[in-house]
Amino acid sequence: MGLLSQGSPLSWEETKRHADHVRRHGILQFLHIYHAVKDRHKDVLKWGDEVEYMLVSFDHENKRVQLVLSGEEVLETLQEKGERTNPNHPTLWRPEYGSYMIEGTPGQPYGGTMSEFNTVEDNMRQRRKEATSLLKENQALCTITSFPSTLTRNIRHRRGEKVVINAPIFKDKNTPSPFIEKFPEDDEAAKASKPDHIYMDAMGFGMGNCCLQVTFQACSISEARYLYDQLATICPIVMALSAASPFYRGYVSDVDCRWGVISASVDDRTREERGLEPLKNNNYRISKSRYDSIDSYLSECGEKYNDIDLTIDKEIYEQLLQEGIDHLLAQHVAHLFIRDPLTLFEEKIHLDDANESDHFENIQSTNWQTMRFKPPPPNSDIGWRVEFRPMEVQLTDFENSAYVVFVVLLTRVILSYKLDFLIPLSKVDENMKVAQKRDAVLQGMFYFRKDICKGGNAVVDGCGKAQQSVELAAEEHEEYALMSIDTIINGKEGVFPGLIPILNCYLENMEVDVDTRCSILNYLKLIKKRASGELMTVAKWMREFIANHPDYKQDSVITDQINYSLILKCNQIANELCECPELLGPAFRRVRYSGSKTDSSN
Ligand code: GLU
Ligand code: MG
Repeated sequence: MGLLSQGSPLSWEETKRHADHVRRHGILQFLHIYHAVKDRHKDVLKWGDEVEYMLVSFDHENKRVQLVLSGEEVLETLQEKGERTNPNHPTLWRPEYGSYMIEGTPGQPYGGTMSEFNTVEDNMRQRRKEATSLLKENQALCTITSFPSTLTRNIRHRRGEKVVINAPIFKDKNTPSPFIEKFPEDDEAAKASKPDHIYMDAMGFGMGNCCLQVTFQACSISEARYLYDQLATICPIVMALSAASPFYRGYVSDVDCRWGVISASVDDRTREERGLEPLKNNNYRISKSRYDSIDSYLSECGEKYNDIDLTIDKEIYEQLLQEGIDHLLAQHVAHLFIRDPLTLFEEKIHLDDANESDHFENIQSTNWQTMRFKPPPPNSDIGWRVEFRPMEVQLTDFENSAYVVFVVLLTRVILSYKLDFLIPLSKVDENMKVAQKRDAVLQGMFYFRKDICKGGNAVVDGCGKAQQSVELAAEEHEEYALMSIDTIINGKEGVFPGLIPILNCYLENMEVDVDTRCSILNYLKLIKKRASGELMTVAKWMREFIANHPDYKQDSVITDQINYSLILKCNQIANELCECPELLGPAFRRVRYSGSKTDSSN
């Protein structure tokens, strides 16, 4: 979530007084790190996933389900029994935004060998088991992206007014048109809510959502910058493929992903910064929320595709250049540092800039972008890392493993085959918008690079689906074309080779034990079938579940009882108490390799 420290948090007024101090020292801290480790190379691939969980409690008698605010307690026990007892404990637990949320990661990062892919799912299962074992009767640990039912919370920001989140309503047969929510006792809400939208007014509606993230250690700073750029173009595609959050505040929305909701929920820009009033007390107009897609590529090959106006702190930019940092990295950092710190702890104001990095991390970790470029912590043996952040969390450990393994494998083929996915960054932003729409995975068309093999690549061309020119007349002269996710993921004869065929090609050339290969094939099959529509995304499956629920009146309203049935079903699926072939495929395909039973064809 960000830097969740302990201590005495300062008020916004006090924090604001220290904002320049935090930025100034944050930059000095970054410079210390940069100079110390800029030439570090030969780090090996290490990686890890982060799964965010919600704690819920079922009231079977009244058919209700609620969030349980016991995250802190559960976390304390998990840490006590885990990492504090045994530093090699296989799981690690951290707090998340809501007190009904916790976050779990593997205890140690995974390494670069193929067989590690076969341990991810077991580790996720262990996490689920550990946390579940601490819950009370009728409670459950869920991996759902957004909790469908009403949440109340009120947070005012530096923004000076409540946040405004308007998610489009899904218009069902009986949904009133226009759909207008009434807020008789709340003038502010009445004004801020838009017709045909679900209105939300607090940070919790956004940051209270859960996601699935992956962080990789690159071998050097330049490899990290290259991966950061390449994966940025993949964010909207994988987000749409992982879509899992169609419901908000008790209504069926017309979006499938959480992204825009979180973005609006932590949009702390003042009216001046949003361009609604002339600049007087603030320094800049800022075009995006702190939670949004990236605004600049970091690698040299990305430079020519940087076509988004970048607001930067000019002084910081100059200072970084003077310290020998190149333009691309300097503008990246100077862009992150246009933001104020959101929280500050009294005990953590005066720091040793050569050996601590809290001020840098304070700003860095409250820039929640699709990708995060992570310098090593001071005095550690950790290398330069990149975090992939757009994915929605899935119901089962199998699915979460599949998405994680898919993304990590993709980094391997990007590096091995020197693939190039870059397109103008403004096109990636357009893709982000499309990706959140209802059923974008099947209906959306996304800008994607036509020739992804820098200077030709025999291995990829040899995958059987040679690339030929795309017949889209209007964009024929461009390096990119509009493609469906099916084309991007599975390939299309004469149009695009497809990411999965390329991954399969890579796997054929790797030494992989049979068991691991079987797991990987099952993971890739899930991704492939979600992309083709043969299997549903979680979002689609949830929509169908609601649509077929006997209590649903086709009015876009999710009652407490419907919510109860949905979460109960999700929990059964997650704990393998029932099958869900339309979401996961036939069960036998997911069974671990056992000599003969598993079908690994197609
Ligand atoms: N829960 C947030 C999301 O769904 C991410 C918070 C974090 O950065 O850990 O994107
Ligand atoms: Mg988190």
